Amino acid sequence: MIVILEPRISPDKREYQQILSALQNLQGVGIQPTSIEGPKETIHEFYLSGKTDKVSVESLEALPGVSKVIRTSKAYRILGRNTDTDPSIKFQYQGLSFSQDDFHIFPGLCAVDNPQNVELMMKALSEAHIPCTRMGAYKPRTDPYSFQGHGDKCLQYVFETAGKYGIKIIAMEVTHERHVDEIQEALTQCGAPVGVMVQIGTRNAQNFELLKAVGAQTTFPILYKRGFGITLDESLSATEYLACSGNSNIIFCLRGMKSIYSGPHRNMADFSHVAVIKRLTRMPVCVDPSHSVGCLQVGPDGISDIFHATAQGVVSGANMLLVDFHPFPPKALVDARQAISTDQLKWFLEDIQLSRETYLKRRELAKQFT
Ligand code: PEP
Ligand code: MN
Repeated sequence: MIVILEPRISPDKREYQQILSALQNLQGVGIQPTSIEGPKETIHEFYLSGKTDKVSVESLEALPGVSKVIRTSKAYRILGRNTDTDPSIKFQYQGLSFSQDDFHIFPGLCAVDNPQNVELMMKALSEAHIPCTRMGAYKPRTDPYSFQGHGDKCLQYVFETAGKYGIKIIAMEVTHERHVDEIQEALTQCGAPVGVMVQIGTRNAQNFELLKAVGAQTTFPILYKRGFGITLDESLSATEYLACSGNSNIIFCLRGMKSIYSGPHRNMADFSHVAVIKRLTRMPVCVDPSHSVGCLQVGPDGISDIFHATAQGVVSGANMLLVDFHPFPPKALVDARQAISTDQLKWFLEDIQLSRETYLKRRELAKQFT
C-alpha cells in the first residue's frame, strides 16, 4: 500500500507527523517513508507492508495532508502497478529525470581498459551531447583467468574524466557491497564530478544479500538487470528486495534471456517485455541490445542486428538504453565482439531518434483510438 502525501507536506510539518503516528497505530503494518524528487517539488510517501488487507483506503485518505492511497499488487508491493493511473517511479538524479515517460541513452565501455580509451569515449559522448555513459570497473567473468576489470584502481580517473567532459551519470556494475563504498570514496576524493547509477548484473539477479545492501543505500539509483535464467516474476520479486530495503529509484533492464535457441545471437532479446514491465510495475525500463545480440553482424539492408534490436526496444517505449561502445572495438578487453565503434555513434543516435519519435507518435495514435 502506498500513502502519497500532498506536495506541501514534508517531514517537518505537523500533518506529516500526525499521518506517521496514525500509521504507527496500525497493527502488524511496516512503514517505509520515502521521497520522490520532482523538478519542481518533492513528494513524500509511505510504503506500507505486512497486514494491510484490513487497512481502509478511505480512512487514510481522510487524514489531512494525504493526497492519495494506493493498494498495490500483492506480488510487488512497492513497485507493482495496479491501475494505469498509478504513478510511475520518478526520480531526479544529477539534474536528469527518470520515469516511464523519460528516455536516456548510456553508451560506453563494457570494461574500462585504460585512461586513453576512457578519454576518447567521453570525448565522443560530449561531442554528441550525450550526458550519460556506462563504464565497467568490476567485471563478473565466467572464466576466472579472464580480465576481471581494474576495480577501484580506475575509479578516480574515470570520474575525473567524466567531469572534464560534462558527463553527468555513469552506470557501473557492482558485484559486492564493498564496491558501493569504494565508488563513494573515490567520488568524495575527487569532488564528485559525476553521479553513478549502480548496476546489479544478471548473474547477481538473485544475490539477495547484495540486493539488500545495495537497496539500503539511497545515494545512488539502481539499474537492475533481469536474471537470464529465472522467471520474470523472480526478477521482479528481486527488485522488491531493493525497494523494501529503502531504495525504489530502480530501473529494470532487459538484456536478453539465455536460451539454446538464441543462436546466432548471444541471448534471446526479450524487448517485447518492455510493455509488460511497464504494465506490471511502475519502474522505468531499460534495454541492453549489446548483451542480447552479442555480435555486430550486418544484414542486407546495411543495418546491424544490434541497431535493429535497439530500435525494437525504443519503438516499444524503453526509457533507457545501455549499449557497449569502444574507440577500437577489436581491442576491447571484455565483450569485444559486441562493441560498436565510436565512429558509428552519430549514426546510432540518429537511428534511435527515429525510433523514439515513432514511439511518441504511436502513443498519440493510441489516444485517438481509445
Ligand atoms: C554488463 O552490462 O557489462 C553485463 C555484464 O551485463 P549482464 O549482467 O547483463 O550480463
Ligand atoms: Mn559486457
